[in-house]
Amino acid sequence: MVVRKILFNGNPLLRKVSKPIKAITPEIRKLVEDMIETMYVNQGAGLAAVQIGELKRLIVIDVSEKKDQPLVLINPKIVAKVKEEIGKEACLSVPGLEGKVSRFQQVRVKARNLHFIDVEVDAEGYFAVAIQHEVDHLDGILYIDRVETGSLKPSREDDDEQ
Ligand code: ZN
Repeated sequence: MVVRKILFNGNPLLRKVSKPIKAITPEIRKLVEDMIETMYVNQGAGLAAVQIGELKRLIVIDVSEKKDQPLVLINPKIVAKVKEEIGKEACLSVPGLEGKVSRFQQVRVKARNLHFIDVEVDAEGYFAVAIQHEVDHLDGILYIDRVETGSLKPSREDDDEQ
């Protein structure tokens, strides 16, 4: 596992649309391991492949308290969403800032797992927000694009970033 460098806002790759993954190869497995390691080292709750420079539709998320339950979603697609609410958000690619964003509090996501088998995940609360934040990355969208006017400010150190 290798800790990879995270790209910051201003890097044009972060604005590109990532491409679907067609098969699980050793390279994809290695990429997933690197992403999980990079997410944990940076105390993130989620990471999209593009954040380490790989334009692939792949995200990892861990919203568990002990950070020992990484979820890998390949080609994720949000198929249902309800209950929009405004909450605080921050991003590893936009260091030092946080802002308020309106997100759905319940989502259902369809994806493939590391065996390339179809999976469906129902997520609520912060888990649901993290999924929307990471799927946005795959479409070249950053949370600062969606931030409530005037809510962007310096972040506190204990904030979760994605
Ligand atoms: Zn992010």
